[in-house]
Amino acid sequence: MPDFDYLIVGQGIAGTSLAWHMHAAGHRFLIIDNPGLPSSSHVAAGIFNPLTGRKLVKTWLADQLFPYAVDFYRRVEKILGISCLHYTDIFRPYRSAEEKDNYLRWAAENGYEAYISGRLPDFTANRFIRAPFNGLSITRSGWLDLPHFLDSSRNYFLATGCFREADFSSEDLALDDQHAVWQNMRFKKVISCMGAGAGKDAFFNWLPFNPVKGQILDCRVEGYDVEEIVNQGIFILPLGGGLVRIGATYSWHDLDWENTEDARLYLSEKASGLLKAPFSITGQRAGIRPSSADRRPFAGRHPEYSRLYIFNGLGTKGVTLAPFFAQQLVNLIAYGQELHPEVNIERYFSLYSKPGFS
Ligand SMILES: Cc1cc2nc3c(=O)[nH]c(=O)nc-3n(C[C@H](O)[C@H](O)[C@H](O)COP(=O)(O)OP(=O)(O)OC[C@H]3O[C@@H](n4cnc5c(N)ncnc54)[C@H](O)[C@@H]3O)c2cc1C
Repeated sequence: MPDFDYLIVGQGIAGTSLAWHMHAAGHRFLIIDNPGLPSSSHVAAGIFNPLTGRKLVKTWLADQLFPYAVDFYRRVEKILGISCLHYTDIFRPYRSAEEKDNYLRWAAENGYEAYISGRLPDFTANRFIRAPFNGLSITRSGWLDLPHFLDSSRNYFLATGCFREADFSSEDLALDDQHAVWQNMRFKKVISCMGAGAGKDAFFNWLPFNPVKGQILDCRVEGYDVEEIVNQGIFILPLGGGLVRIGATYSWHDLDWENTEDARLYLSEKASGLLKAPFSITGQRAGIRPSSADRRPFAGRHPEYSRLYIFNGLGTKGVTLAPFFAQQLVNLIAYGQELHPEVNIERYFSLYSKPGFS
């Protein structure tokens, strides 16, 4: 008999979503995390936005992913007795009158009406936000307070004997025909959810990660009362009490977790263009988004070791991607059901060239 069915390595949004799905399905799991290591989920703003980019493109699988994610977070909120999901419209100021016509045409042509809010406040004279052409309000959007969600989940799993603080090294894992053995405990399967730390995971570091560094600022804007998340190149996320979060930067270089002066200046300049009111910076955070080369998650079974799985590559959209694909992965691991082909790491098996694998 194994000690647990599954070992989940990493308690970011990937590992935590997986753990809740295993919990719901009645599987016995242990989730471990080294709190001394950085976590992208603890840096992220947690925003979920169905229409993104300068051209307002509906995000991949939005019609399936968004309702699933909201329902999942609501269910967990109920179990934990907390409130961490904030359903908030996203206001996109138009840059010009022409952009207004384009956005409205795009929305109509592409059937995005369900994602455009009927409630559009007049921002042209707003005392905090510069929006001379007003803007578009996106709905079915908002943000998840990730630290609150993750820390409360961790406490729950700790109290139910399913969580331990520990550092994982692939060298400490033994695989035999029956089990995966780690620290004298036997598991049926091990799922690596190590975020950007997966580069050090000898079993999965052959996957084409494309990590992206990001930074955000915590700021104070006296009397700030805008309820919407404002998004134009950067986002301004209202936290209440005159506090806002401003982000984010994207960098494919200098992939460390350090704050930089460059990022602080860049975000301050962008914020000054969007905000009419003065603001002061109270904090800064940096993290590494675990993105993949084709911008699709990594999920599935190792090409050679059938007891090893991965859930990673959530990139810039961990909050929306994690719940839906955690469910798919649990269905694969426990019941052999097919994964969505665009997330299945089988798409990269040709890159795996360990001796003995064919
Ligand atoms: C500045 C910034 C802003 C962002 N904003 C958003 C946003 O608004 N919305 C959104 O959806 N996404 C956002 N993201 C992306 C989001 O953070 C990621 O998609 C998501 O957090 C990835 O989650 P993860 O669980 O895969 O990785 P992580 O959150 O990094 O979790 C990995 C966990 O594994 C643990 N770990 C790693 N190695 C080991 C080991 N050897 N032993 C034990 N434990 C280990 C780490 O301690 C960590 O807790 C943002 C990211 C950044 C950097």
